[in-house]
Amino acid sequence: MPNALRAMREVKAEGGWGVVCTEYCSTDPGSDNHPHPFCTLWDETDQHVMAGLADAIHRQGALAGVELWMAGYSSRNNLTRTPPVAAMSMPTKYAPLQTRHMDKADLRALRQSHRAAALRARAAEMDIVYVYASHGNLPLQFLSPVQNRRTDEYGGSFENRARLMRELLEDTHDAVGDRCAVALRFAVSTLDADIGIAAEGEGRDLVEYLAELPDLWDVNIGGYPTDTRTARFAEEGAQEAHVDFVKTVTTKPVVTVGRYTSPDLMAARVRKGKTDFIGAARPSIADPFLPRKIAEGRIEDIRECIGCNICVMSDAQGVPIRCTQNPTMGEEYTRGWHPEHIAPRDTQIAPAVTGAVEFDILLVGGGPAGLEAARASAQRGYRVALAEAGTALGGRALREARLAGLSSFGRVADWRIGQIAKMPNVEVFFDSRLTPEDILEFGAPHVCIATGASWRTDGTGRSSFAAVEGIGAAPILSPDAIMDGAAPSGKVVLYDDDHFYLASALAETLVTRGARVTFVTGADIVSPLCVPTLEQPAILRRMLSLGIEIVTSHRLVRVTERMVECVHIWSGETRRIDCDHIAPVTSREPEAHLYRTLRDAPHRLSDGGIIDLRRIGDCDAPGLIAHAVYAGHHYARTLTVRDTVRRDRSALQPSNQPAPGPDR
Ligand code: ADP
Ligand code: SF4
Repeated sequence: MPNALRAMREVKAEGGWGVVCTEYCSTDPGSDNHPHPFCTLWDETDQHVMAGLADAIHRQGALAGVELWMAGYSSRNNLTRTPPVAAMSMPTKYAPLQTRHMDKADLRALRQSHRAAALRARAAEMDIVYVYASHGNLPLQFLSPVQNRRTDEYGGSFENRARLMRELLEDTHDAVGDRCAVALRFAVSTLDADIGIAAEGEGRDLVEYLAELPDLWDVNIGGYPTDTRTARFAEEGAQEAHVDFVKTVTTKPVVTVGRYTSPDLMAARVRKGKTDFIGAARPSIADPFLPRKIAEGRIEDIRECIGCNICVMSDAQGVPIRCTQNPTMGEEYTRGWHPEHIAPRDTQIAPAVTGAVEFDILLVGGGPAGLEAARASAQRGYRVALAEAGTALGGRALREARLAGLSSFGRVADWRIGQIAKMPNVEVFFDSRLTPEDILEFGAPHVCIATGASWRTDGTGRSSFAAVEGIGAAPILSPDAIMDGAAPSGKVVLYDDDHFYLASALAETLVTRGARVTFVTGADIVSPLCVPTLEQPAILRRMLSLGIEIVTSHRLVRVTERMVECVHIWSGETRRIDCDHIAPVTSREPEAHLYRTLRDAPHRLSDGGIIDLRRIGDCDAPGLIAHAVYAGHHYARTLTVRDTVRRDRSALQPSNQPAPGPDR
């Protein structure tokens, strides 16, 4: 998606980031991670794409960096079908395929391809060229005493295992000369047994060994699941204890990461000499204009990352990046959306009506969907009334934020509430559970229903589209009741037929409130939908550490007094589990009654002066908070114009690549 990525990165450059880097960039077809998005510098066409990217970044006054990537055993090679290579013959990480043990010719070819990619990066006007020895890829595999059992000059001693990394740095310096800086991205501590590098051992040794060779050190820890932990499992700045030694070992500038969103923390780290640059992926996704807002003293306008990893999930889906906090992320090219700017209201629309009434838009429901719709519509200049049944704005974001580990979800509401508070054209009405009559009387020409959804208590979900037999026989604890503070004693059977993060957070919360929890799920692992957010292993670890009993592959079929009956999905065997409460986390019921009543009375709508009635968010189709925020933003953008989606397709563009094969 070269156009989409270029547009997204140009927006980040405009937002004030000093350097905008590409994602991992393959140097040759031996490192192919399809279907995940990655960029390539294999040939002239790639160079042309990269030059366009560099140009866009430079246009906004930032430097452009490219991270040259060689995967080794973490390569999939689904597209290229090239045998992957590594320090030794070993099973690849993600595919039913082994690597080839690299011989001298392979090593020469590999260095040659890295050098060629560096030359293309320079020709494309990139400013910083990375050697990438992090996230478990090839140079790190060579350094690993576990994954490198070679007996030649690339294996054995520390210097031998570090040889490839040193050579790649020297080759890259040689290729780019003084036109580009050469950076080394290095995981000082891999924190996993299969690589075996520790910050207090060979991680530090490596930094000392190569201290002055790179122009820039970019350091982190772990593989992706450790480096990119969610807020539930890692605080802001969680890597500091591991990476802070680097500045004491080298005179070269150092970049560190840590999902930093607090300008005070960032400034303190630089002032204390712990780092020279703050590196950011997720904070720059949630708010591409974060640096500019710091520079302009608009700290309260920063839209802070909530650490939910929905962005990481979209990486596995072959689509542009999706973000809970920033609904414009990934839509810069496809929909032409900008994170800060939005077209002013269309004054051509119903001028007679807009002049006659106090509000242009009545939004019903102040959850993530309603809040974002209100904020973005008001940014366009519409006069907005936001009616909320309760006494606080935030809806499910606020309620979920009360659960163990999810407090950062409250930021979804906080940022929007803060923005709305500064807007004179939004009025919020609390304690206003509107009826159809209220809405008809209100007199706003645009009505948007964002009334959310509530968790079902009858057991219907993924495994059962009908209510579970006898579900009311044991006391029921709904997810909504737990979020509202229910603290049951005794034994709770929590039945997860939702399979995402919430059931595990509810289970953890119940344990902290004193309950004993048995977690039953029809899935074969706990929280399977959290695999793409990288959270699943951490969830399992947390549940085990809390003493939560886990029963996988079981479907709930019947509830009797103080007993649930489950059936093993694959064997069909019945299992009975005693309980004091049953907590079904299965699916949600959209609060759609209000919308349907109005929709089914078109004459009353027109009599009430309503020209447009819509529903958005969970009352339409319950989904992620990210879906609801997006739906709210989409509402504001498309209030008076049709949605247009531009797809990033290059199939019909002329190619300068040679036509494939003699068969043609
Ligand atoms: P979403 O994720 O789609 O924004 P939420 O469930 O988070 O949905 O938020 C829905 C909000 O709508 C809640 O704050 C709820 O109190 C409010 N709400 C529900 N029904 C009404 C109503 N009839 N009038 C006003 N507010 C309502
Ligand atoms: Fe942060 Fe979540 Fe957005 Fe990713 S999706 S940048 S983790 S708020």
